[in-house]
Amino acid sequence: MSEKRSQFPLPLSSVTGGNTRKTTLPSPVATPQTATQNARNNSQAQPPGGQRGAQSGVPGPAKPAPAQPQQTVARSDLAATEAPRRAMAARAARQGVKDAQVLGALEIVPRHMFVEPGMLAQAYVDISLPIGHNQTISQPYIVARMIELLKEGGQPLRRVLEIGTGCGYQAAVLSCVAQEVYSIERIKPLHELAKANLRPLRIANLRLQYGDGMLGLPQVAPFDGIILAAAGLEVPRALLEQLAIGARLVAPVGAQVQHLQRITRTGKAEWTSETLEACHFVPLRPGTA
Ligand code: SAH
Repeated sequence: MSEKRSQFPLPLSSVTGGNTRKTTLPSPVATPQTATQNARNNSQAQPPGGQRGAQSGVPGPAKPAPAQPQQTVARSDLAATEAPRRAMAARAARQGVKDAQVLGALEIVPRHMFVEPGMLAQAYVDISLPIGHNQTISQPYIVARMIELLKEGGQPLRRVLEIGTGCGYQAAVLSCVAQEVYSIERIKPLHELAKANLRPLRIANLRLQYGDGMLGLPQVAPFDGIILAAAGLEVPRALLEQLAIGARLVAPVGAQVQHLQRITRTGKAEWTSETLEACHFVPLRPGTA
C-alpha cells in the first residue's frame, strides 16, 4: 500500500493478498441466542448446504447436531462455500427478505472470511457470532433485512454510510447494492481486522474509516442511505443531518428492548420515522477505543 492509499479513503481494490488457511465448512442453523451462546451451541458442524433448522424459515432454538464429517477447504476457496451461501440466501428469502439484489449479495459475499478461525464451521448459520472486543458479526438475516429496508421504495443508493464496520461483513454486502460505501468503526483493532478481512476481496467501492460514527462523515455527506449496526437510545442528530432529502436511515434503537427504526428525510428540517421489528444489537458508543 502506498503512503496515499494508507489514508482514508482506503481503496481496498488496490490491495491484494489471500488467506489460504485451511478450515472446515459451515452448518446452517438458526437461533435467537446471543453470539457467545450461538458459538457454544453450534460447536458441531454439518456439511455445506445442509437443511438443519431451515424448514420453518424462522429462527428456532439450536439443537445439538450429531457429529458430521467436515469438508476441509482453504479459506480463500470460494467455490467450496457456494452451496452454503446459496442456502443462507434461500433461508433469508424464506424469512421474508424479498429484494433480489440483496439476496444475490448474500449469496456472493463469503461470510466465512469474516468470522474467527475457531468459528468457521458456523459461518453460514443464521446467527450473530463474536468477533472479539465484545462485538459481533450480525446475523445474516438482519443484515439482509436492514439493507432491504434501506432500498425499499427509495431512491437509488449511490452513497451509503455504515456505522459499526465490525469485521466488515455488512460493508461487503452493502458494496454489492450501492455505488459507494463508507463504513466507520470506533474500535481500532476491529477497523484493522475489517481491512484485513476485506483486502483479499478487493472491493473497489468500499472505504473504511476509523472514528466515532455518531458524528457521521460530514466531509462525504449527503448520503442516500445510512445503516447503524449498533443500537443507541436514539439516532444521533448528526446522522439525520447527513441524509440527502428523500434518503433513509435504518437503525436498531433501544437498550434491553430494541426495534429497527427507519427514518426518512422528507425535507430540509423534516424526518418521518417508522418503528419495525424487534432486534438485538451491541450498543452504540461515543468516542473511539
Ligand atoms: N457491521 C458488522 C456488525 C458489527 S457489530 C457486521 O458486518 O456484522 C457493531 C459495531 O459497531 C462494533 O464493532 C462496534 O465497535 C461498532 N460501534 C459502536 N459504536 C460505534 C460508533 N459510535 N462509531 C463506530 N462504530 C461503532
